[in-house]
Amino acid sequence: MEKKRPIAEHPKLKKDDLIVITGAGGFIAGNLVKYLVGKGFTRIRAADKKPLYEWYQRIPGVKSLCLDVSDEHNCRRVCEGAVEVYNLAADMGGMGFIERFRVECLRSILINTHMIEAAYRAGARRYFFSSSACAYNVLLQQDPKVRALKESDAYPAMAERGYGWEKLMSEMFCQEYWAERGMKTAIARFHNVYGPYGTWDGGREKAPAALCRKVIEAIDTGNKDITIWGDGHQTRSFMYIEDCVKGIDKIMHCDDLIATPINLGSSELVSINDLLSKVERIAGVKLKRRYDLNAPRGVAGRNSDNTFIRNVLKWEPNTSLDVGLKATYQWIEKQYNARKKGRRVVE
Ligand code: NAD
Repeated sequence: MEKKRPIAEHPKLKKDDLIVITGAGGFIAGNLVKYLVGKGFTRIRAADKKPLYEWYQRIPGVKSLCLDVSDEHNCRRVCEGAVEVYNLAADMGGMGFIERFRVECLRSILINTHMIEAAYRAGARRYFFSSSACAYNVLLQQDPKVRALKESDAYPAMAERGYGWEKLMSEMFCQEYWAERGMKTAIARFHNVYGPYGTWDGGREKAPAALCRKVIEAIDTGNKDITIWGDGHQTRSFMYIEDCVKGIDKIMHCDDLIATPINLGSSELVSINDLLSKVERIAGVKLKRRYDLNAPRGVAGRNSDNTFIRNVLKWEPNTSLDVGLKATYQWIEKQYNARKKGRRVVE
């Protein structure tokens, strides 16, 4: 039986303290690595199961490892000597992925189970877990004109099958490692994140990137039709990646939020139809909309109630969708054109 560690007053994080980030070949963790390097941290160990050439970003000076962190031994290797650990690795994607591949999503429980134990054994001071709005009770999300979800809405539990239940269970690990063992954990429930260096094709992409790509394809091919999943009335909020990494940093280092799930999302609610109109305005086109009512569409509506984060952090994600979408559209357009010329990802 593990004894609870005494709660330590930790010294301020030093620029050369070892920071470990998993999922770093993907979207959010890749951007987090870049953000922390930009803040002057000099010892970052990044891990992802993807081969290094498939990582969305490789930041010079960062130790990048191709390792599967659902394996206990690998987790110990990754966490050795870590002062702080950010676990963002997960098998995930947009609705098309999480509705179809529930087993893969559930199996991400292995990642957090082994990562949190390895972080604890390595004596890490803080551990971050990326949870999701999919942990919320789906019965509260049956109308496009939803009331925004507040943190207490996760219970009584009726999470999104597969993906959402994995997040809820992993949150509980984080809470109990603090309660029983005294390791400081942070839990952010992300609401749809978008921006440059995110997945934009291949089946795991989310609505903003998918719509940008479809509009770019329509312009390129001259076929002025676009297919929307569902009836387009479903609503969501979307958080720009720069707000996301800033929020992760703030939540990780706030002692009032230890082991306390908190929304990290935008509260700017938009329907998928309106999201497409925004992309069309950026691209300067108008397309003929077709609706695929058999496609995965997820819950009818979801928004982030930001009362708690505003109260605790005096801050909330605030990049407007118009600003973030424009940057995202331009980045995807570059990727699309580079790929057509036979090149891989470009800056
Ligand atoms: P992503 O798919 O771009 O990145 C996840 C990365 O984890 C991928 O590169 C993948 O290869 C890696 N990975 C998966 N299994 C692994 C394993 N066993 N070992 C090592 N690496 C592994 O996704 P993202 O959007 O960057 O998401 C990051 C985290 O944020 C995930 O935990 C996700 O569930 C959570 N989240 C994201 C969103 C969003 O809108 N993007 C919303 C809610 C929650």
